[in-house]
Amino acid sequence: MALQDYEKSMSYCIRCSSCKWIPYNKIQSKRFSGNCPAISKYNFHSYAGGGRVAMAYALHLGRSEISDETLDTIYRCQMCGSCQVACHIVGEICEPLEIGRELRIQCVEDGNLLPEHMFMVDSMRKDDNPLGEPKAERGDWAEGLGLKNINTEQADVLFHAGCRFSYDQDLRGVVRGAATLLKQAGVDVGIGGQEEACCGGRAFDIGYRGQMETYADDIISRLRASGASKMVTPCADCYSTFKQFYTMIRKEIDIEILHTTEYFDRLMKEGRLEPKGNGSLRVTYHDPCHLGRLGDTYVPWDGEWKKAFGQINVPDPPRKVHRGTEGIYEQPRDVIKAIPGIELVEMERIREYSWCCGAGGGVREAYEDFSEWTALERIEEAKDVGADALVTTCGWCERNFKDALEAKGDNFKIFDLTELLLADAT
Ligand code: SF4
Ligand code: SF4
Repeated sequence: MALQDYEKSMSYCIRCSSCKWIPYNKIQSKRFSGNCPAISKYNFHSYAGGGRVAMAYALHLGRSEISDETLDTIYRCQMCGSCQVACHIVGEICEPLEIGRELRIQCVEDGNLLPEHMFMVDSMRKDDNPLGEPKAERGDWAEGLGLKNINTEQADVLFHAGCRFSYDQDLRGVVRGAATLLKQAGVDVGIGGQEEACCGGRAFDIGYRGQMETYADDIISRLRASGASKMVTPCADCYSTFKQFYTMIRKEIDIEILHTTEYFDRLMKEGRLEPKGNGSLRVTYHDPCHLGRLGDTYVPWDGEWKKAFGQINVPDPPRKVHRGTEGIYEQPRDVIKAIPGIELVEMERIREYSWCCGAGGGVREAYEDFSEWTALERIEEAKDVGADALVTTCGWCERNFKDALEAKGDNFKIFDLTELLLADAT
């Protein structure tokens, strides 16, 4: 797809501004009624999903061009997808998230690059990760765990750690713990080790589609060679990339993709994994964008829009409208509720209407203050419902929340769900 393929979609933005809030019938308070970090912080239409659609349409029609200011506005967006969920509640044609991504892809193709992203891009090209870490150390996290090397041995499950979990020392307990829990449940686990590469999701979100296509080809060919029946990842970003982004670019993975949370839930329900718990804690659960609304199964559509009754545009053939409702929402809640001593309280913005952690879309790397502000907004929401801790299922979310809290000198607790499953977590 390219920006021109969204011409109809761009022209059908009705400027209703529904993309700025969670649906009206879900609002519980004015304080937590916003859904879009960008418009909530900058309070100017161009920063909203609909504003980006207007920008893209003007560019497409040749009525505008990219300046430093427009580039800055285009990239002050986490690509969290909340605008699109809200938009699809009022209509079915406009796609602010996809249009925002195509706008970024066009910027990159035209050489309008955001300097703050070049570190990430160079690191991906050199070391297959956006963090500036050496490729040779990618598998170090698994040292001593006795996991199979999928490059030389057959295993039933390929465990894809992802860039954040492979290198972030502070999160090492999560990734090691997740692999250990799977082994304890009798799962035959293999890893790519230093041969594992980035999924490419971050590259796609900042406009480097070619980079993601390279990663997709690499991962799909390794998967086929491995003979694994499933791929499991503890990273929500990787999950969404494998499940949704690869399908968008017509590079589908033909084996089962699971997030560790889904797999833990399944193993617990089969009696193969026993939640232990070790103390009492009142927690709230943060739905990561990429495990929730962006974890929907994507169904490509190559049809066209036709007029019905001379005035209504209808898709021919009919197409699936993505509203984020098919993400992973029940499984993490079921796991939390099954852990002895853990009480779950819900925030106001949950499931497909979840507020973003602030890390995505290259915002963490380019606009640290905006990323931090977004994370602290979520933490305020967690505190507002009386939670002692916030639980998430994504390393990027956990990292961003912890960094924002540290910058503020706040010791509110953040956990990955895996940590709650390990006996010493609480
Ligand atoms: S993007 Fe969708 S929700 Fe936002 S103003 Fe346009 S039509 Fe309304
Ligand atoms: S993707 Fe998220 S941050 Fe970007 S415009 Fe949409 S709701 Fe706002």
